[in-house]
Amino acid sequence: MKIICIGRNYVDHAKELSNPVPSKPLVFMKPPSALLVNDKPFYYPEFSNDVHYELEVVLKITKNGKHVQPEFAANYYHEVTLGIDFTARDIQSELKRKGHPWEIAKGFDHSAVLGNFVEIGEVWKKGNVEFELKKNGETVQHGNTRDLIFPFDHLIVYISKYFKLQMGDLIYTGTPAGVGPVKIGDHLEGLIHKNDGSVERLLDCEIK
Ligand code: ZN
Repeated sequence: MKIICIGRNYVDHAKELSNPVPSKPLVFMKPPSALLVNDKPFYYPEFSNDVHYELEVVLKITKNGKHVQPEFAANYYHEVTLGIDFTARDIQSELKRKGHPWEIAKGFDHSAVLGNFVEIGEVWKKGNVEFELKKNGETVQHGNTRDLIFPFDHLIVYISKYFKLQMGDLIYTGTPAGVGPVKIGDHLEGLIHKNDGSVERLLDCEIK
């Protein structure tokens, strides 16, 4: 199982970190040991002083595929959830400065929080998935996938050129603006807006 992540996939987020808007998807991976599921707490790692949340829509791959063509891309995912791409921003900034890979800053244990999946049809409204992150009850990130620079199908096509997609793979599709630090004692909740107008909490994570 692979955890494939996309960086800088919303214009407003690329700008808030003073990064250029990419012309192709920026792809990186986390190892399977990064997963944190079932609303388990996240233990703040000792090697960083600046861990940031990044709330992202996550796709689950339901079919194996290589060189997927655009017209078939939507057949490769049927469920969606929210995840947090925890990032040790202090370490990432140093690695970026040196031009080194990001794995330590992005792929450490439990850096990939995963919520409960829902059928994509329940939240798919003209290609829009609206979602938000609450920190201690206050909304800190609010996004809509209509603002993705590279939409879901584009990501499937692009990623499958380089990596065979396999059932169970996860794609973290990038974070909107509003990323920020967490501290011990914080409570994070990921909410998704559904077609019937209801809001469902898919993710709940305490920082310990
Ligand atoms: Zn991210």
